[in-house]
Amino acid sequence: MVVCYEAEAEALKVIFVPFLSTSHIIPMVDMARVFAMHGVDVTIITTAGNAAIFQKSIDRDISRGCSIRTHVLDFPAKQVGLPVGVETFNADTQLDLSPKIYMGLAILQPRIEELFGELKADCIVSDMFHPWTVEAAAKLGIPRIVFYAASVLSRSAVDSLERHAVHAEVGCDSERFVMVGLPHRLGMTRLQLPDWMRKPNAYGQLMKMINDSARRSYGAVFNSFHEFEGAYEEHYKNSYGTKCWSLGPVSLWVNQDATDKTERGHFKAGEEGEEWLKWLNSKTENSVLYVSFGSLNKFPSSQLVEIAHALEASGHDFIWVVRKNNDDKEGNFMEEFEKRVKESNKGYLIWGWAPQLLILENKAIGGMVTHCGWNTVVESMNAGLPMVTWPLFAEHFFNEKLVVDVLRIGVPVGAKEWRNWNEFGSEVVKREEILRAIGLVMGNSGEEGAEMRKRAKALSDAAKKAIQFGGSSHTNMMQVIQELKSLKLQRLSASNKLQP
Ligand code: UDP
Repeated sequence: MVVCYEAEAEALKVIFVPFLSTSHIIPMVDMARVFAMHGVDVTIITTAGNAAIFQKSIDRDISRGCSIRTHVLDFPAKQVGLPVGVETFNADTQLDLSPKIYMGLAILQPRIEELFGELKADCIVSDMFHPWTVEAAAKLGIPRIVFYAASVLSRSAVDSLERHAVHAEVGCDSERFVMVGLPHRLGMTRLQLPDWMRKPNAYGQLMKMINDSARRSYGAVFNSFHEFEGAYEEHYKNSYGTKCWSLGPVSLWVNQDATDKTERGHFKAGEEGEEWLKWLNSKTENSVLYVSFGSLNKFPSSQLVEIAHALEASGHDFIWVVRKNNDDKEGNFMEEFEKRVKESNKGYLIWGWAPQLLILENKAIGGMVTHCGWNTVVESMNAGLPMVTWPLFAEHFFNEKLVVDVLRIGVPVGAKEWRNWNEFGSEVVKREEILRAIGLVMGNSGEEGAEMRKRAKALSDAAKKAIQFGGSSHTNMMQVIQELKSLKLQRLSASNKLQP
């Protein structure tokens, strides 16, 4: 009997498994939505608390006709001794609770694996922090694609350092070394590397599993695009020995209307309403600096004081997204600062969570101070903004290399030391350094700033083209879907041959 599986293979079911952190969930869900937008049947598996971060966007996509849903699991809070609702890594996650979130995730693993079979997945797109999904996919005979909430360059850098270990050859932590085999000559110091790369620790074990599972995956997907990191896509393919697709900027693709841009992450419709927007709209084009350090960071008061002085001394208007810490060493300095800049109409402080996409696209914004979190780098580039780079943790120091040395759209604040995301670290960047970098980015020094702004604008234009028909990310998207359909067809045909 001749069986025609073509029609069945056309109906592609892809399951996305995000990690339990805001800044991994945001881009992965946006990527899942891009798949759904292109006719793929998408299921996102996560816990109730994490679904709250994005569910409204899924509901809107359903009403737009997409075949997409969230499969919600209860986080085993009681079992691991966590207060109900603590199931996400973000700026409010207490240091001692982090291991329990990992434990909860481990408890959920068998259930997630069962779901792959029950939901008849044709492909699993898994956050890098679920290395076990590579075996789960292999058992089902389906491809596993690893999703990174990071730059392609950072993954290439990790591979280079694992292979060549040049960082082990320098005499001290502050001596510069150049990474081997990368498309550009990129220098770093050991102090700027994650702790697990400097000295073996438990996190390093996990990273080893993650890197091994990446090499055993069918491919990798990135929220990036060819004109941004093309040279590193090739490097990734060669060094990890798998396919690699840049499918971004995913946010630009799916968050086209204001509601999608506003109701994102930990947004809460508050009393403040859209005061910030009125304030921003009263400012002239390119005159305001946006200062934000992502979803995880908190600075000690000593650092907040330095930032505040630098912002005031710069003379530029600014919006600063600030987080309260439990360190009250500087008394009511921040309250007084806020009062002062409000009175002078020079600055606007947003406490907690800001509608970052909306702020960045406002014409008044002329530059950004960023910790080089990958999402923010991409979003800032989308908006065509030059950046003051202030890397802190994770792969930020590698991202800084891309922004400053490769693309030349940023000025470093001079951060010297990597630290853990949930620690203050020992480095306090001084106001003079912050001021110098702001001056360069906001164009005080003439030509250099203007050239940087031009390059940032060119990349922003390229990003918009990348997601249009025939653009690099659009073409990649079509290729992934086509390949996954062919793999499904092969699987269906093979299973038919096996039947008596
Ligand atoms: N974000 C936001 N408002 C905030 C802080 C963060 O919308 O007040 C979003 C930001 O737009 C980005 C993500 O949260 O999409 C942060 O990710 P990133 O990789 O930049 O940094 P991380 O949170 O991992 O440090």
